[in-house]
Amino acid sequence: MGFFDKISQGLKKTRDAIVGQVAAAFQPGRALTDDDYDALEEALLRADVGPQATDRLLAAVRTTLKDSSYKGTPAEALQNAVEFLLADASRAAASRAAALRAGVAPAAGPPPKPFVTLVVGVNGTGKTTTIAKLANHYRREGESVLLVACDTFRAAAADQLEVWAKRAGVEIHRQAEGADPASVAFDGIARAKARGVDRVLVDTAGRLHVKANLMAELEKIRRVIGKAEPGAPHETLLVLDATMGQNSLAQAREFDKALALSGLALTKLDGTAKGGVVLAIAETLKLSILWVGVGEGMDDLIPFDAAEYARGLVGAR
Ligand code: GDP
Repeated sequence: MGFFDKISQGLKKTRDAIVGQVAAAFQPGRALTDDDYDALEEALLRADVGPQATDRLLAAVRTTLKDSSYKGTPAEALQNAVEFLLADASRAAASRAAALRAGVAPAAGPPPKPFVTLVVGVNGTGKTTTIAKLANHYRREGESVLLVACDTFRAAAADQLEVWAKRAGVEIHRQAEGADPASVAFDGIARAKARGVDRVLVDTAGRLHVKANLMAELEKIRRVIGKAEPGAPHETLLVLDATMGQNSLAQAREFDKALALSGLALTKLDGTAKGGVVLAIAETLKLSILWVGVGEGMDDLIPFDAAEYARGLVGAR
């Protein structure tokens, strides 16, 4: 199954919740009434698109349909508006990332080796599974991958990561339960460098007793990774559970404040009718969605594509 079919299938519940509600109004050639716009607004809000992104989409659709030279359907107008909103957010995210990088590392040149990704997120969001899926993805692209298990608070976390590492056919660096997470990260990077590994994925804890401690711990891990390999981590990825709706927005805001995220992996899009949260996140936080999870299998992580998401969400063409 291709990426588009997977994302389209993953978005089915959300698509039904939005387009299913306004199907009659979306007949080609029919002008939208105020009641139609109200129904669309309600459907978008129910799918967790959020007030800000909903207002923007409605305004864009209205403007498009008012233009007498417009030859498309209302559904196409919505789909274009969705794609535009996402493209806009990822442009904003890219320029922010470039500003952060300025003076730190050269923008061009060969990719850093090892390329280090720090993966963060609250427990239960799908962090372990997502790391496994990423490992699998990069290994298939011919890269050597090392997982580093920095959640030393729970032995089960490293055990589970090890099971996934085997399944993905990649190596794992782990130390005893209770070891200092930052020193595990340091040793893991050193091992990757010694062996000439292409890519390192660092798993981290998703819960401590006090939230401020978690952020402080993650910042420390990040600092120490930079000592082990100047310029690293090259990417800080937040794993978010799409079924958590607006709650995941709050999580994204908090992690971004502490760690200046590179982008997001949004999991469990397949299990929810609230997949519109992608738009809420893009519009309000201007964060890039880099990956979406659409199932529990190793292949069920897809590189995010704004046009495919828009088409999967609306299904106009
Ligand atoms: P962690 O605690 O954040 O490491 O979460 P896990 O990786 O253990 O995942 C928690 C649960 O979510 C597991 O049952 C996973 O199979 C499931 N899961 C993760 N990603 C997805 C996804 O994209 N779709 C679905 N349907 N389930 C997922």
